Amino acid sequence: MNTICTRCGSTDVSCEAMINPNTGELRNYTDDSFLFGWCEKCGYGSVLTDTDEIKRDIGKMFQQFMEIHGTPDYAVCDIVWKKDNKIESVKIGLSKERNSGKDNEVFFNCSSLRDILSLCEYGKEDFIITAIHYLDKWH
Ligand SMILES: [Zn+2]
Repeated sequence: MNTICTRCGSTDVSCEAMINPNTGELRNYTDDSFLFGWCEKCGYGSVLTDTDEIKRDIGKMFQQFMEIHGTPDYAVCDIVWKKDNKIESVKIGLSKERNSGKDNEVFFNCSSLRDILSLCEYGKEDFIITAIHYLDKWH
């Protein structure tokens, strides 16, 4: 697990969770899909993302898709903007070749699985991928 604040990338964060008060054991997170929490570095609430989990999800989905349909053309993902923490559902292209001329439909173009996985981390882009919905090909 590597849960970070999507505004600043810090791991000094807290989130709501259910614990067993007798043992302090963590049972589960109150909200798994959109993990809102508190960032100590920012000093306010932010969207949190578990970068390991989302990368694992994408990797698994990619592999399953490949086995049945071959290489996907794009991924439908949720992204969060670092600046204002707004969440959007977008299409991320997975092949620059097959996505040429699709500029209106594709929010961002990657050229490999490794590329899209790097967008799940606090990197150089203005946004971070926080969830993956599905992969598809142009028909
Ligand atoms: Zn922060």
